[in-house]
Order: sequence, then structure tokens, then C-alpha cells
Amino acid sequence: MRKKFIAGNWKMYTSSITAELLASAIVKGLANETRVTVAVCPPFPFLARVAQVVRGTPVALGAQNCYPKEEGAFTGEVSPSMLVDVGCQYVILGHSERRQKNGETDAFINEKVHAALKAGLKVILCIGETLGDRQSNRTEVVLETQLTGSLAKISAEQLSNVVVAYEPVWAIGTGVNATPQQAQDAHVFIRKRVSQMCGEQAGQNLLIQYGGSAKPENVSALLHQPDVDGALVGGASLQADLFLAIIRLAIQ
Ligand code: PEP
Repeated sequence: MRKKFIAGNWKMYTSSITAELLASAIVKGLANETRVTVAVCPPFPFLARVAQVVRGTPVALGAQNCYPKEEGAFTGEVSPSMLVDVGCQYVILGHSERRQKNGETDAFINEKVHAALKAGLKVILCIGETLGDRQSNRTEVVLETQLTGSLAKISAEQLSNVVVAYEPVWAIGTGVNATPQQAQDAHVFIRKRVSQMCGEQAGQNLLIQYGGSAKPENVSALLHQPDVDGALVGGASLQADLFLAIIRLAIQ
């Protein structure tokens, strides 16, 4: 039985004060609830501060990116071990905003996945098709390419520390979410493909989150799909009451 996993991607929002307030409200609202796994992913500058708020609570800390090197002359970059040092357990990699705006390729994301896992982080790997891909019936081709590229040379053992977030690009930040059936179909495809890559058991154990305009009013039907194991939440994770409502719906 896969435990549902709800993660909040705060993107480039919050300040040191509001990040701390948001994290505190989530910690308070979640209390001792452990039937669902919860993580928050603030911007880099606020990680250490949020780490202090979530330490010793069921809320895990994640970052939104990392660089695939241990250390060195890489101005402006952050290594996986630095994230571990400040208390991160997770890192989001391959987000479509980074693929599109920063030109990240599957090969580069694959380097990051290996580096993050080596440092002891769990990876939330984002994949998803654009509207054009879907309209031209290329959804599965795109998911296949992103999966095989981003997860190249990943063993079944390593895969146990990877979560895949299926995030149709056309649903991110648009207010338009995938239908539960569209999400289920994509998740089944991802699980089947990962099973072929890493073995049936690894595929069955893989957590696959849905991401894309997830909100309390639409998330319940998505989370009831048998292959939807949680949600990666952007906009709605910036309001504690909405994020907590999504977490509660994941428990039902
Ligand atoms: C995201 O950025 O990962 C995301 C799913 O955003 P939103 O929920 O705002 O669509």
C-alpha cells in the first residue's frame, strides 16, 4: 500500500517572515498526522529558517533545485550536500519551469538525480507534456523520453528514493487541471514504463504525484484514482488553509 505524499512547491514566493509563518501554520495544522507524507519546498534563502520550524515535526523539507556537483567554482549554484546540510530530505528536479525557462535537458536532469541520490536526498522528478504534445497525441512519447532520459542508469534500489510528479505543463498555474481519468492514464503509463526499466516491484512501489492546479475543490477525485499517490502543489501550497485541506483530503 503506497502512502499518499503531498508536497508544496513554493516556487519564487514568500519572504523570510512569510515563509516562517506559512511553515508554522502547516506544522500546527498537521499536528501529529502521519497517515500522509508532507513536505514543503521553500526558496533557497529560506530553507534554513523553515528547517528550524519543521525540525522534529512530520513536515519534511525539500528544495526546488540543485546542481550536480559536490562543490567547486559554480557561481550561484547549490550542491545536494549543502541541501542536506540545511536539513533537506527532498529536492524537486526537472520542473517544467526549469526545463522551459532554463533550458534543462533530460541528460542534465539525470546528472542531478544521480548527484542528489548520492548525497542522500530523495528526488521528486517532474515530467509532463505541453498542450501541443497532448493535442498531437504525443503525451506518451514525451513521458517516455523524459522518464528514460532523466532516470537513465537508475537502479531499482535508487528508485526507492525517487518520486515521480506527473505535471502536464498545460495544467501548471493555469487553473485548468487534468481530469482524473487523464491523470490516471498518464500514471498507469509511467508505472508501466518504470516497471520495465527497474522491475515490477520497483514500479509498484513508486509514488507518482499529480501536479497542475491541484486545489481542495478538484484534488479529491484525482487522489481517488488508484495510481495517483499524492500531489505536488504550487499555488495552493502558499496558503496554509488550502494546503492543509488538500492534505486532509488525501487522508480520506
Ligand atoms: C507546480 O508548480 O509544480 C504546480 C503544480 O503548480 P500549480 O499547482 O500552481 O499549478
